[in-house]
Amino acid sequence: MTGGHLAQGAPVTPIIEDDAFIRSAVAAAELPSLLPALAALTGDLSLLRDDLRPDPLKVREPNGGYTHEQQAAIHELAVAAIVRYRDGGCRPAPPPSDETITRLMAHAVGDLVGDDYVPMMREELSVTGDDLRAPTWHKDALAPDRPFTTVIVGAGMSGLLAGHRLDQAGVPFVIIEKNHDVGGTWLENSYPGCRVDISNHCYSYSFAQRHDWSHHFSTGPVLLDYFRACADDFGLRDRIRFGTEVTAMTYDDERALWTLELTTPDGEATIEANAVVSAVGQLNRPKMPAISGIERFEGRAWHSSHWNHDVDLTGLRVAVIGTGASSVQLVPEIVGQVARLDVYQRTPNWFFPVLDYHDEVAPGMSWLLAHVPGYAQWHRFQLFWRAAEGLLPSCRADADWPDITRSVGAANEELRGLLTMWFDVMFADRPDLLAKVVPPYPPASKRVVLDNGVWVAALKRDNVNLITDTISEITPTGVVTTSEHGEHGEGVEREVDVIIYATGFHASDFLMPMKIVGRGGVELHDRWNGDARAHLGVTIPGCPNLFLCYGPNTNIVVNGSIIYFSECEVHYALGCIELLLRTGAGALDVRPEAHDAFNERVDAGNRAMAWGATWVDSWYKNRTGRVSQNWPFTLLEYWQLTRRPDPSEYDLLG
Ligand code: NAP
Repeated sequence: MTGGHLAQGAPVTPIIEDDAFIRSAVAAAELPSLLPALAALTGDLSLLRDDLRPDPLKVREPNGGYTHEQQAAIHELAVAAIVRYRDGGCRPAPPPSDETITRLMAHAVGDLVGDDYVPMMREELSVTGDDLRAPTWHKDALAPDRPFTTVIVGAGMSGLLAGHRLDQAGVPFVIIEKNHDVGGTWLENSYPGCRVDISNHCYSYSFAQRHDWSHHFSTGPVLLDYFRACADDFGLRDRIRFGTEVTAMTYDDERALWTLELTTPDGEATIEANAVVSAVGQLNRPKMPAISGIERFEGRAWHSSHWNHDVDLTGLRVAVIGTGASSVQLVPEIVGQVARLDVYQRTPNWFFPVLDYHDEVAPGMSWLLAHVPGYAQWHRFQLFWRAAEGLLPSCRADADWPDITRSVGAANEELRGLLTMWFDVMFADRPDLLAKVVPPYPPASKRVVLDNGVWVAALKRDNVNLITDTISEITPTGVVTTSEHGEHGEGVEREVDVIIYATGFHASDFLMPMKIVGRGGVELHDRWNGDARAHLGVTIPGCPNLFLCYGPNTNIVVNGSIIYFSECEVHYALGCIELLLRTGAGALDVRPEAHDAFNERVDAGNRAMAWGATWVDSWYKNRTGRVSQNWPFTLLEYWQLTRRPDPSEYDLLG
């Protein structure tokens, strides 16, 4: 891939192909968004036939849940519309009115798009191809002579985004990156099978769409390529200091400045900034399990996020400890290579079956995305809407629900039934495995993982043991478990050559290992005391002009894309900087009462969700037991809250 297709609204190649080719391409189209896209392109709203609206309850099914007759009718209408567009010289109709866009949206998703959602979704959709989230202000107009620099910490997905937005607003900045390249998590995680788990047409910046994703869910290297291309296209590379790590930052009340301490390739250094954007990611400090004897193992061992590419696993005996999202991706990749694979499962996952998880985008579909202007945006809109709030109601806890050990409410119980069917069908031939893999806890108490069947197939292989007994020890030669059901309760050692720890990350230790000293010399981590909190996940009392991306309570569980959240967070941070430049204030500090009220609301919200309502432990909770990761409300609400800072929630300083 090149960076050439990044800009939304990039010129779409004119159509010169004949009718037969167009017909074959349309046969591969994802249907629900096709007629709305063509209606917008041609201005022919008669394409929006009521009998061809998708059924919102079936829209996730293959072919959008349409009957054969409906599919044939859509194909005919679409081919005729594309041919007319081609024969008319590929001239798009004028952009649709707001009213028409709302009508097109309703047709694409088969449902009414509530009035409150329309502004947010119109921004996401950007049918004209404009970047509707770009700052509408510029420093030169607000405060041309004021020196104001920003340091962004991290050049992953959020850091690149922050750099691009600050650049558009004319605010000087530098990005500090500890690695040798951009990409963050997609640079660091190189384990076999690493890939994104929401559709790529959504897991990409709203303003830097690609029409040429080869797969619906890209692999790590393809995503790394995307973020590298973004860094180039946004012109950011010159402003990134690679191989440099921020170790500490201290706020100077008098001067309203942060001083950042850096470890650089040339030694220690400092840098000053009026504002700091932390874009350090969160799932990137490996968590090794506290298992006795771990340091005594004499074979090779590594964490999933620090894959050892020097070891060829062919013919080796391998143990994988952990069965979270990383394990589920890597196990199917290595299982055919190794002599024996012992998979240690402490807690089973709930799975969403996603049958096209590894599939390529069909060539006809790719052609349509590249040649039918607007189809890519409408396709993305449709995917985004489906993923938006869809499953949130199934995660809500009902205070009167009788047995919260297995589900937290009627909708959650229904979800449990649906997800259990996957296990029943897939493990029908292996009752021994079925007994081990169905989670006892409510769906969505922990992260739900995707599978298209490869994980199931891997577990069924002859060379694989799924071990659910507790690990008691690691010896120089293997892993020992204590069988709760064993005759004498004695330990069993399984010798291996390699141990792979797919045991997750220190997710709750936000901003670690940086030392952050805010107003009055207060050290942030001392104040947090293991319970990180922020206002809207972005600002922290006592830390003026420090803005977090992917901060506390901004993780989503079953709805949306984390890129959407970063776009909201960065938009909000830019709004804060605009406020500073417009008012001439040196700094802004969120008022504790605003911060506390927000956190109380979020905590109450999380207690009413599956991940907060139960006894289940997960990386969503910190050591105090509070859900410090998740956003319990809708995507829409986060968008509304982050439109602009409310000045009454901030003290303007200096
Ligand atoms: P994880 O979800 O935290 O899973 C860690 C696994 O290790 C769990 O199965 C855990 O069991 C097990 N474990 C931890 N300590 C153990 C011990 N002492 N003994 C036995 N088992 C132990 O970590 P992850 O799989 O790396 O995923 C972390 C997050 O990264 C994901 O939830 C996701 O947000 C993100 N991720 C995303 C993708 C993707 O989108 N494509 C891929 C990978 C990761 P328990 O459940 O019992 O604690």
